[in-house]
Amino acid sequence: MISYWEQSSFIQYDYIIIGAGLMGLHLAYELSEKEPNARIVILERGIFPSGASTKNAGFACFGSLSEIAADIEMNGLDASLSLIEKRFQGIALLKERIGIEALGYENHGGYELLYENHLPVLEQLDQVNQHLFPIFKSNVFSVVNEKIKDFGFASNAVKSLIYSPFEGQIHSGRMMKSFIKKIMAKGIQIINGASVKALEGNQVHVFHPILNEIISFKAAKQILVATNALASELLQKPIAKPGRGQIILTEPIADLKIKGVFHIDEGYYYFRNIENRILFGGGRNLDFKGEENAAFENTELITNELIRILHEVILPDQKVEIQMKWAGIMGFTENKLPIIQRINEHTVVAMSCNGMGVALSGMMAKEALALL
Ligand SMILES: Cc1cc2nc3c(=O)[nH]c(=O)nc-3n(C[C@H](O)[C@H](O)[C@H](O)COP(=O)(O)OP(=O)(O)OC[C@H]3O[C@@H](n4cnc5c(N)ncnc54)[C@H](O)[C@@H]3O)c2cc1C
Repeated sequence: MISYWEQSSFIQYDYIIIGAGLMGLHLAYELSEKEPNARIVILERGIFPSGASTKNAGFACFGSLSEIAADIEMNGLDASLSLIEKRFQGIALLKERIGIEALGYENHGGYELLYENHLPVLEQLDQVNQHLFPIFKSNVFSVVNEKIKDFGFASNAVKSLIYSPFEGQIHSGRMMKSFIKKIMAKGIQIINGASVKALEGNQVHVFHPILNEIISFKAAKQILVATNALASELLQKPIAKPGRGQIILTEPIADLKIKGVFHIDEGYYYFRNIENRILFGGGRNLDFKGEENAAFENTELITNELIRILHEVILPDQKVEIQMKWAGIMGFTENKLPIIQRINEHTVVAMSCNGMGVALSGMMAKEALALL
C-alpha cells in the first residue's frame, strides 16, 4: 500500500508522459517551455530509456535518394516533402536544444552505395534535387563515383556513390544523457522502472515492483503516450507495428578510411564510422514478418548477412572482428507516416518515427502539443 506522503507528493501531476525515449523527452521539454510551472512526470519502464533512442545508429539524416524516391512513389510528393522538411528542421532543433558538443554531432556528409540493380534511381536524381531545393536551398544529391576507391569499397559490387552534404552523425548515448540532464534541470521528474500496465480515464496504472501491486498516477490535464512500438499493447488497439533493428559493431580498425553516414538499398542497410570503428545495421527486409518483433535479440540470419556485406562490400581487403552486437525496437506504420493522434479527451499519442526519430521526433512533439 502506498503511504499518505507518497500519495500527496508522488502520484499527482498535470501531465504524465509515458516513455522516456527521444519523443517523451521532447514532449516534456516543449510542455515545460509552454507551462513552466506545470507538474510534469515521465514514466519509463526501463532503468534507462529502453526502446530505440539508446540503441540506434546515430544518423542525423533525412532519407537517401532511393528512399526518398520510393517514399514519393508510395505517399505522393507533398506528404513526402513535408516529412523531409520536418526531419531537416528536427535536426536543427536537436542541435539548438542539446548543443553540438553534447550531441557529439559531426558532419562528414551522407552517402548512398548503389549496386548494379539500384542504378535506375540515378535517373531520378535531378528531379529529386529540384523537389528538395526549396527546403535545402541547394542541390542535395550528387554523384561522387571517384570516392568508391577512396573509401575502399568493393568496386565489383558498388557501381555508383551518391553524396549529400547535409547529413551528419551523433553520439546517441551522449545525446540522451545530455537531454535527460536538461529535462531534469527544468524540474521535470523521470521515474524509471515504472512499467505502465493500463490507462483508465485520467489515471495511469503502474506496477510497483517493491509493493507488488498496481498504483495509479493521476493527470490533472493530460496523458501523453510516447511508447513508440509498444503503444498498441497499452492502448489495446492496433496502432503501429514493432520493427526490430539489428546492429553489429567492429573492433577498432587501423587507418579507417570510411567517414560519414552510409545507406544501401532504400536505407534498409546503414553504416557509419564511430571513432575508428564501423557500426553497421539493418537487414529487416530479409525477414519483415520475423522482425515485427519487440524482443531485443539479434538473429543469425541478419547478423550473418551484415557480416557478409561488411567483408565483401564495405571492407573487402581487411579482416576485422565484430566486437558487439545489439538490437533496438522501432515503431512502423504501413505508409511510413508518423502517428500524432488524440485517442480520447485525456490522452494524446505521438509515435512511429519509422526509423528516423533522431531527426523527426522534435517536430512531432511540437505537433502533438498543438492537439492539447
Ligand atoms: C537499430 C536502430 C537504428 C536506428 N537508427 C536511427 C538513425 O540512425 N537515425 C534516426 O533518426 N533514427 C534511427 N532509429 C530510430 C530512432 O531511434 C527512433 O525513431 C526514435 O528513437 C524513437 O523515439 P521514441 O521516443 O518514439 O521511441 P523509443 O526510443 O522507443 O522510446 C519509447 C520508450 O517508451 C518506453 N516504454 C514502452 N512501453 C512502456 C510502458 N508500458 N511503460 C513505461 N515505459 C514504456 C520504452 O522503454 C522506451 O524507453 C533507429 C532505431 C533502431 C532500433
